[in-house]
Amino acid sequence: MRLGLVACVVAICMAVCSAFPARAADAASAPTRVTLHLKWHHQFQFAGYYAAIAKGFYAAEGIDLVLREGQPGEDSATLLSNGETDFAIGSASLLIAHARGLPVVAAAAVFQHSPLVLLVRRDGSIDHPQALGGRRVMLGGEDGSGDPEVLAMLASEGVTKHPVILLRHSGNPADLLEGRVDAMSGYLTNEAIRLRGAPVTLIRPHQYGIDFYADVLATNRRLATDRPELVRAMLRATRRGWDYAMAHPEEIADLIRARYAPDMPRAFLLDQAAAMRELILPDLVEIGHMSRGRWRHIAETFASIGLIPPDTSLDGFLFSEIEETARARTGRWIELTGLIGLGGLVVAVLLGAFVARLRALVRQRTAELAASEERFRSIFDSVNDAIVLLDPENGAILAVNRRTCELFGYPREEITRLAIADLGLTGAGEPQHYDPVWWRAKAGSGRPHLLEWRARAKDGHIFWVEASLRQASIGGVPHFLVVARDISARREVEERLRRTIEDLVASNSDLERFAYISSHDLQTPLRNVVSYAQLLARRYRGRLDADADEFIGFIVDNTRHMSELINDLLDYTRVGRPSLPLVPVEAGRPLAQALAALQPEIEACGATVTAGPLPRVMADEAQMVSLFQNLIGNALKYRAPGRPPELAIAAEPHDGTRWCLSVRDNGIGIEKQYFTKIFEIFQRLHPDHRSTGTGIGLALCQRIVHRFGGEIWVESTPGAGSTFFFTVESAPVAE
Ligand code: ADP
Repeated sequence: MRLGLVACVVAICMAVCSAFPARAADAASAPTRVTLHLKWHHQFQFAGYYAAIAKGFYAAEGIDLVLREGQPGEDSATLLSNGETDFAIGSASLLIAHARGLPVVAAAAVFQHSPLVLLVRRDGSIDHPQALGGRRVMLGGEDGSGDPEVLAMLASEGVTKHPVILLRHSGNPADLLEGRVDAMSGYLTNEAIRLRGAPVTLIRPHQYGIDFYADVLATNRRLATDRPELVRAMLRATRRGWDYAMAHPEEIADLIRARYAPDMPRAFLLDQAAAMRELILPDLVEIGHMSRGRWRHIAETFASIGLIPPDTSLDGFLFSEIEETARARTGRWIELTGLIGLGGLVVAVLLGAFVARLRALVRQRTAELAASEERFRSIFDSVNDAIVLLDPENGAILAVNRRTCELFGYPREEITRLAIADLGLTGAGEPQHYDPVWWRAKAGSGRPHLLEWRARAKDGHIFWVEASLRQASIGGVPHFLVVARDISARREVEERLRRTIEDLVASNSDLERFAYISSHDLQTPLRNVVSYAQLLARRYRGRLDADADEFIGFIVDNTRHMSELINDLLDYTRVGRPSLPLVPVEAGRPLAQALAALQPEIEACGATVTAGPLPRVMADEAQMVSLFQNLIGNALKYRAPGRPPELAIAAEPHDGTRWCLSVRDNGIGIEKQYFTKIFEIFQRLHPDHRSTGTGIGLALCQRIVHRFGGEIWVESTPGAGSTFFFTVESAPVAE
């Protein structure tokens, strides 16, 4: 509990502190001068430090970094321990110095893999570490301790039996090339590049399982313990510098040439950069990363070749651990002082922070609310339907959207002073008054109630709207909501359509009545004309001259044709008149009647008629006889010359609930462009055909089929025959 409180206090204090621009303040005061001792002469190997200086990364951390070039024979651990430099670049051998009690601290490993290699002359005698036994080998530091990777490699390859002759490094490759030594250590990033093309071979410790950190940024224990924040700042800036340098090698190469090493060829610096990429692994590992496990492994390797005692501890060697210990100490101190002295302050800070947070929250919520209201209003106003919110008690208009104002012609502030009854919607009962009972019954049911409403605009004009009335709960209080859409245009079209249909029906029935009456009335006098013409023909044929006989013949033929026309017209108009409802009919029966009536014609032309089983359909039997009679009659009439007619009547299911009946013939056929035309009244394709006809038959068939609720059409190949199809509802199964 107490710890929890303290942790809370610490967190708040830290939060409060972090709110102040501490670093900026530090940076603003005089920067801290810090020295860094490089391992060797200026070159790309130290690119990250140059980049961080040039880009102001150290300055931003309040550090004024001074670089010092390394010289042959120097030892970074000694320089650090003597306080001659604040930071230095060292190799893994820093650990050897630590084991010997020197106060050196490793802060960051820039090279994840060591660039150190052994260079040997390519004369064939040395291609493996074992071959170095008894040979002269030049290494860095005292007894080669500057290049511990090489010592470790030699030891692990068993060269200790015939030890090599160790010589102190001269730094001069000519010693190797001219045979004064057999091997010398060098860097992949330096000598290996310089000696490209020379008769030199590389032996890499890496290939023999020796893999150390290199170019380790180190400091001394005093700085690490007393000023961990300075070391941390140095690390931050250095890391940024290395990130920058590895991302912009060309720029940094130019920088090195301009400020540090004017004689260094640009191509060489860029070669170095390329070689370093594989050792630093900037894309895979955070630059500077070190792990205790890997240092432990390095310690074990050193111990195995006797460079350090086997029980060497890493304590005090790694900066991250020193910093951690310091932080824990600071934490304990804050806990103590916090408990003793800062109680009141903490409460005040707590309260202050709480109030500030509350204020910020309120501000944030208010802004969110305003944004949400604005969003809602813009949606509300962009809807194309009028929306009206009502007080359920008296129908007062509480809110409307923009479309309502447009539709009713009121400004928003005016319409919100009205009640819904002022717009014409009152409900049942009193025409001018709001009827809450009616409203509750319609809108309060939980489901929207739809109605068409004669609304009244401000200018008094009346128009139609389709309105949905519903109850809406706002803040837990029930309200009525009206969503209305202008349907005046639709209503007008509907009204016009209704009137047109009424007019059409009236004129159609007038016409039919006229056609029926006139045909009916014409029948009797025409019959008389036909009878007398026939009488004339019988009595006077051969008694007058030849012309008179011919004229009488014309009169007889034409009056007969006129009589047919009138009969057909009567049939046609009859189908349109109110008639009996459709009933189930066995289609075979009307077919048989039609065939019986046409028997003389069938026999006269030697036609064969076949009929498949026919279904029970919904029809009027007499009309169906007429339908078959017309279709079969036509099939006989329009037979092909010199070919006895063959007719087939069939039926098959159509669309699930219907049948499709067909009458097929092998007659003269019909051209495709007349497939529709022939169903129009008085349309005849073959007026000069030897057969008689009125052009009404198929129009009558279509009328009958439409009355049955079906369709009629033809398919035909001129010269080969036609098939007339018609659909009709199937009848329920007979009991
Ligand atoms: P019509 O009294 O002339 O036979 P219809 O309305 O019955 O009048 O037929 C219209 C026209 O359709 C006919 O004049 C004829 O040219 C053509 N027609 C109808 N049935 C057939 C058929 N089975 N084969 C060829 N032509 C036909």
